[in-house]
Amino acid sequence: MEKIDMEQVSSVTLEELPCNLCGSRESAVLYQRPYLTPHDQKVGAFAATTDEFLNYGRIVSCLKCGLCYTNPRPTAEAILSGYGNYVDESYLLESSSRSINAHLSLNTIRRFTSTGKLLEVGSSVGYFLNAARTDFEVTGLEPSRWAAEEARRRFKVECYPESLENPSSIQGRSFDVVAMSDVVEHLLDPKSAVLSCRNFLKPGGILYLLTPDIGSLSAKLMRGYWWGLRPAHIYYFSRQTMTQMLMGNGFEILTIKSFGRIFSYSYWLSRLKNYPKSVFLTVGGVIKALGLENKLVYIDTRDSMEICARKR
Ligand SMILES: [Zn+2]
Repeated sequence: MEKIDMEQVSSVTLEELPCNLCGSRESAVLYQRPYLTPHDQKVGAFAATTDEFLNYGRIVSCLKCGLCYTNPRPTAEAILSGYGNYVDESYLLESSSRSINAHLSLNTIRRFTSTGKLLEVGSSVGYFLNAARTDFEVTGLEPSRWAAEEARRRFKVECYPESLENPSSIQGRSFDVVAMSDVVEHLLDPKSAVLSCRNFLKPGGILYLLTPDIGSLSAKLMRGYWWGLRPAHIYYFSRQTMTQMLMGNGFEILTIKSFGRIFSYSYWLSRLKNYPKSVFLTVGGVIKALGLENKLVYIDTRDSMEICARKR
């Protein structure tokens, strides 16, 4: 792999890779910013709650298939060690809304199957595993040692501090559902991950994915300022590239649709803090005046997509 120099705020080595979907090396630069690589920060840009903004490096679009990805990017070793070490206590603050959001995902999964064994890859501190227990026998893989331990301690669920690259604790097992929520955009090799998920699925099993949609209207309107562009995201799928990835690797698509979420008004407000200050202050003032800070609200910005696919 070719190593290249590029403006970056931190000192991790970057390398250039071909398109993960079609293998082409021909691409066009979509957006370019300095790169604050998350992989040598303590908590930094790995965290789900990160407010790291506009430091996502160079995002390219493959000229052959249209897949968008960060290129160059940190080495696999740097990325994997970053996830193993990450700790994000602030993720626990929105625990009630994260539990409800897990049920929104489960509602979609239950349209296709509602019983059996479920594996969640990237299960974080276990909200989804805990929610899924009402219907499924659940197992989690979570590379962050802190998060995997938190899931076991809080919810007494089976969760291993491992990643899909080396899932030694679940070798030889098979599942009716494999779920990855807000995970595929972080993975080193989504194509291998999809194939690995397929290997862990029983015949006819369901793969559930949730990820930002770079083909959405808000991504197109916000361009380089879209919230989905973050240093820890290295792949950006659209409905078209996701369909191609799944159909080309042994799946049929059952549904692709936008995914809204429930959070407190103050959490939604915090998402606006990188945008013009007048907007942040006005919306914040209204929320405060109405006493809504801790009230939960469902918002679908139509730029996250959830997908269910069946193993062919
Ligand atoms: Zn491509």
